[in-house]
Amino acid sequence: MDSRFDFHTARALLVWQVELGADEAMLDAPLNRYEVPAALPKVAAVAQAPVASAAAGSAVELAQAAASAARDLEGLRAAMGAYEHCELKRGARNLVFSGGAPGARVMIIGEAPGRDEDREGRAFVGRAGQMLDRMLGAIGLSRAGGSVYIANVLPWRPPQNRDPQPEEIDMMRPFMARHVALAAPEVVVLMGDISCAAGLGKTGITKLRGHWDEAYGVPALPMFHPAYLLRHPAAKRAAWADLLALQARLRGDTA
Ligand code: URA
Repeated sequence: MDSRFDFHTARALLVWQVELGADEAMLDAPLNRYEVPAALPKVAAVAQAPVASAAAGSAVELAQAAASAARDLEGLRAAMGAYEHCELKRGARNLVFSGGAPGARVMIIGEAPGRDEDREGRAFVGRAGQMLDRMLGAIGLSRAGGSVYIANVLPWRPPQNRDPQPEEIDMMRPFMARHVALAAPEVVVLMGDISCAAGLGKTGITKLRGHWDEAYGVPALPMFHPAYLLRHPAAKRAAWADLLALQARLRGDTA
């Protein structure tokens, strides 16, 4: 049935009605609930249901198994597309797998798709993406030129662009670890707190930024997220210093 509401809005409305005390859904046509059906319907096989947090452990294990079975990036994209345990998928239009050039020396890891990325199915195509392109261009990198590859911690847009939840990050982390292993960049850039939470298990981007660390087995540089820089232009000075640190690393200059 078509609805003018998306999944998350429809669910929020339903929850609200239940909180108000609604315990019955009225149908347009009367239904005789006492009528005995001629044949009892067969019990349908239980489909892969979205996880409640109690089942999050097994959702992580399933993600781990699916991710490690992927032999290449296309296999990983297919595995993520087939993964049914993250509820964000149900409200998203597209799986946003990546952007830029696979095999690039630098892999940018963002947070999650926004509205534009959800619509187009490609990472960082909205305003934050344009900002990212300007940042990279300032040190001679570009996705069109093949020098960066881009992915997000979460491949589905969170409703109303809310922050990703810790269970969602945990659930999708095995896919990101495999993504990095298959893309095999020399370095990763962790854009913002969510990316640091997933890659380093730490948050506090103001302190973390600019300090080389290690994430997913490769050198990692935390940096302010481009969307943050759009809202806080004064932080661009720090971002510029971090971009220069990235450039120096790629040139082989010792810090
Ligand atoms: N912000 C992100 O972190 N990733 C995108 O793809 C777009 C905006």
